[in-house]
Amino acid sequence: MVNIPNTFRMDVRAKIYAEYRSVDELRELLQQYRGERLLHIGAGSNLLFTGDFNGVVLHSAMRRARATREDDSHVFIEAENGLVLDELIAQLCDMGLSGMENLSYIPGEVGASAVQNVGAYGVEAKDVITEVRALAIADGSERTFTHAECCYGYRDSIFKNDLRGQYIITCVTYRLDKQFVPKLDYGNLRGEVGANPTPMDVREAVIRIRRQKLPEVSEVGSAGSFFKNPIVPREQYEAIAAQYERVPHFDQEGGVKIPAAWLIEQCGWKGKTLGGAQCYAKQPLVLVNTGNATPQDVITLAQNICNSVHDKFGITISPEVNYI
Ligand SMILES: Cc1cc2nc3c(=O)[nH]c(=O)nc-3n(C[C@H](O)[C@H](O)[C@H](O)COP(=O)(O)OP(=O)(O)OC[C@H]3O[C@@H](n4cnc5c(N)ncnc54)[C@H](O)[C@@H]3O)c2cc1C
Repeated sequence: MVNIPNTFRMDVRAKIYAEYRSVDELRELLQQYRGERLLHIGAGSNLLFTGDFNGVVLHSAMRRARATREDDSHVFIEAENGLVLDELIAQLCDMGLSGMENLSYIPGEVGASAVQNVGAYGVEAKDVITEVRALAIADGSERTFTHAECCYGYRDSIFKNDLRGQYIITCVTYRLDKQFVPKLDYGNLRGEVGANPTPMDVREAVIRIRRQKLPEVSEVGSAGSFFKNPIVPREQYEAIAAQYERVPHFDQEGGVKIPAAWLIEQCGWKGKTLGGAQCYAKQPLVLVNTGNATPQDVITLAQNICNSVHDKFGITISPEVNYI
């Protein structure tokens, strides 16, 4: 059994851990391990392993990116699945290309960005992804998904739903802007950025803010935001707003988004510990491993938090993290 890398720092193992350096090598691995339980991971930064994985964990060592075409306003960048997303964003900002700077410092790799539709500071991967190339696990055939075919939603895509476990994303094309129009309306980003910022200025501001609030992957085990922010019917939001002062909220299509962090804090979970798992004191949306957490500690803490939020507000919050 081999250790599986994961940012939650869970001590979990797989029967086999295999890395590939080309799409052909990936095809060969799929042939070789046909019939085995398969899991493709990136950096393991959105995973909660509930125990050892009795199967084959695949990981990409393909890490190239190149510009495939450009027009007057855009440059299209095709990036391989194993490239660290933040390394790509750093390079793009350096080149003065914009559109992804708000996604700076999100852990993980290019392949998962298109599965998860990662998002931060008012930008989501879906805003810049134009197409996704993938390999069918069943027969090794290649398929290109258009943006529409990816069926993107909040931290969601077809790869998490109808096509779950059926395709391995090998390449993602992002559309970057040549002309920079900064997006600074989310949180305190505007206040952190000086006048006439460059994409790199925004990237650096995002990183500064994230470092203040979120655990450093190199220091503390976590999978980032553990829960999704719920979107509730307007009447339910209004009922809550009538009872509490200044309920943070964002109007959305189909309802009102209430930050799960606020709901969790109101239930008194901020900073609370269960076994080795903790509701992070600086950002209660994040559950952390204080050093010796077992998967069960995290699962129980998450369940207790969900129950409290449901009992107090009648809102069901669901995990953003993938349980394996
Ligand atoms: C400290 C911290 C902060 C975070 N902040 C944010 C944030 O601001 N916004 C946000 O959206 N997320 C955030 N996250 C969550 C995480 O960074 C993202 O979900 C990221 O996309 C996960 O990438 P990964 O490469 O680690 O994927 P993994 O966690 O390894 O995998 C995630 C899912 O994608 C699947 N997958 C991975 N690669 C492929 C592939 N090539 N083909 C098909 N399926 C694949 C896996 O099977 C799994 O289901 C944070 C996490 C941490 C630890």
